[in-house]
Amino acid sequence: MSRIHLPSTSDIVVIGGGPAGASAARILAAWGHGVLLLTKNQSHVPTLAESLPPSCRKLFRAIGVLEAIDEAGFYRSTGNTFWWGNDQMRSEHFADDERGYQVVRREFDHLLRDQAEAANTTVVESTVKRVEFDTDDTATVHVATDSERRTTVEVEARVVLDCSGRSGIIARRGFRRQGAMPLTLAIAGVWERSEGWSLAEPTHTLVEAYHDGWAWSVPVSPSRRYVTVMVDPRETDLDKAGQIAATYRRELVKTREISRLTHDAQLSEEPWACDASVYSASRCAGSTFLLVGDAASFIDPLSSFGVKKAISSAWMAAIVANTCLVKPDMGEVARSFYTAREMEIFSTYATQTAAYFRDGATMHDHPFWTGRSELNYDLDHNAPSAIDLDSVRRDPKVQAAFAELKNSAEIALIPGDGLEIERWPGIAGR
Ligand SMILES: Cc1cc2nc3c(=O)[nH]c(=O)nc-3n(C[C@H](O)[C@H](O)[C@H](O)COP(=O)(O)OP(=O)(O)OC[C@H]3O[C@@H](n4cnc5c(N)ncnc54)[C@H](O)[C@@H]3O)c2cc1C
Repeated sequence: MSRIHLPSTSDIVVIGGGPAGASAARILAAWGHGVLLLTKNQSHVPTLAESLPPSCRKLFRAIGVLEAIDEAGFYRSTGNTFWWGNDQMRSEHFADDERGYQVVRREFDHLLRDQAEAANTTVVESTVKRVEFDTDDTATVHVATDSERRTTVEVEARVVLDCSGRSGIIARRGFRRQGAMPLTLAIAGVWERSEGWSLAEPTHTLVEAYHDGWAWSVPVSPSRRYVTVMVDPRETDLDKAGQIAATYRRELVKTREISRLTHDAQLSEEPWACDASVYSASRCAGSTFLLVGDAASFIDPLSSFGVKKAISSAWMAAIVANTCLVKPDMGEVARSFYTAREMEIFSTYATQTAAYFRDGATMHDHPFWTGRSELNYDLDHNAPSAIDLDSVRRDPKVQAAFAELKNSAEIALIPGDGLEIERWPGIAGR
């Protein structure tokens, strides 16, 4: 990564070099825009391992990083194993023998930033302190120039992408919505067992529900696994002395399968905790900024789709930023399209995870489960109203109409009496 003096202006400033920031920067730089990516030094912070489903490959290919990711040698998984909702083990293989990726996030993010740099992004390791929106056309980004963050320099940008994740450098200026959703604390540890694990499917991600939380294990090699417990800090009796390790061990004992797995393994790093609570945003765009990836919304880690969501959000943000720069008259409609799409995606995942928690609640009668089983509509009040696709599919009139269409020799669209035409952006490739 280059350590250079900062330019005083840049078409686009991207704050944060996680999956969202690195992907958006790479796409926009490849399209010929001047892109400055500013990312905080995180080398002192412990990193998680995460599971990426095989469907991420399509996105990796679209942003031109698939080859580099395949060459990096991440541990590949063939599916997931669950103990969820009842005592039975459920082992699911990915369709068509496809394989997912088990990635140590520090390594994965580093690779994506290198790919952004290779596409001509200027990548600088610095912390953004704040952003000021002086006019409708420019924003000023204040960047710390020393490790104590006492002195700053200013960079003027036409578009700023807030890809700073939960930190939400712009998102927290009144856009973040947490609603009344329960809080989730993730406590993680790394385990080693030199002779490997006695599991039928050692590459699988393991997920196990227990009385007042759930545990999750991601292998990153045949002998090393990350094991995380998800608890509600308001429901779980956290160790009063603030000893994360004590709480971690107490929670692990509540699991049946995962504690069996770790009982004769070595904990190789001191457990640590991070916030994993769900949130969204009241809107995701302003005249000179976009909230991208986790800066816009965070979905429950149970879905294992956070990175995929962040990269697809980055892809869409790149299209919208490009539109704002090259066709400013389309900027407003592009930005409102972006907010609507981000809200819709968040709402889809929130609905899906609430259903998983309802399933868990059938076995575990505890507020941890019941609190997550209901959708909190505060979170997605701006989302377009959801369509219940299942009931549409079951509707006999809809089924009859489809049967008729299938048998038609040809199909044409004609404007009906109540047709209203609304101007809405389409996506043009470059
Ligand atoms: C416990 C847990 C388990 C998870 N498991 C999975 C999983 O298995 N699979 C999955 O797909 N997803 C998982 N996720 C979700 C996934 O981690 C996120 O969705 C993903 O990291 C979002 O990427 P992002 O780029 O939007 O944000 P981030 O990855 O958070 O990146 C933000 C970046 O911004 C930088 N930054 C922050 N503040 C500043 C600042 N002021 N100046 C400059 N830079 C700054 C940070 O250093 C970081 O590099 C999990 C999340 C948690 C909490």
